[in-house]
Amino acid sequence: MLLQDKLDRIEKHTENFSISKYNFLKISALVKLIKDTDANAAHCEKCSENAPRLEKMIDKIQYLDDIVYRSPYEKQFNEIRKHFHKEHGYIPPLYFSGKYIIYGAIVGLGLAALIAFLIIQKSAVDVLLVGTVTGISIGYITGSLKEKRYRHTNRIV
Ligand SMILES: [Zn+2]
Repeated sequence: MLLQDKLDRIEKHTENFSISKYNFLKISALVKLIKDTDANAAHCEKCSENAPRLEKMIDKIQYLDDIVYRSPYEKQFNEIRKHFHKEHGYIPPLYFSGKYIIYGAIVGLGLAALIAFLIIQKSAVDVLLVGTVTGISIGYITGSLKEKRYRHTNRIV
């Protein structure tokens, strides 16, 4: 089946979906997986295997309210997604910024606690707060910069 036919079929199955349902079922990620699987199928054995699996998944969309259909669908979805992470150098959305925000909060809080203890000689809540917020900001900026090249090459799913 042609790529455009697959996309049309998804469109047809989801035309009555609310935005929250569309997001909950990760339809835009499914579209991305279908497009990129098609693009890689010629030179990746696993992608050429996954292409017909994804095609079958399109017809499951209409039954996904039912958990009996949704669990195996999601299992397959995650497997295919993981293949892109492992073999094609993709990352999940907010992969670095999410991670670095947590590191930033920990390091920022730690440094602020050290400064408060060594220099001010008392635990000052505002110093700890400033340290944590600064750490989070630096973490977010660093993570976003690292994600930039993945955004440019469209390797986020
Ligand atoms: Zn592949």
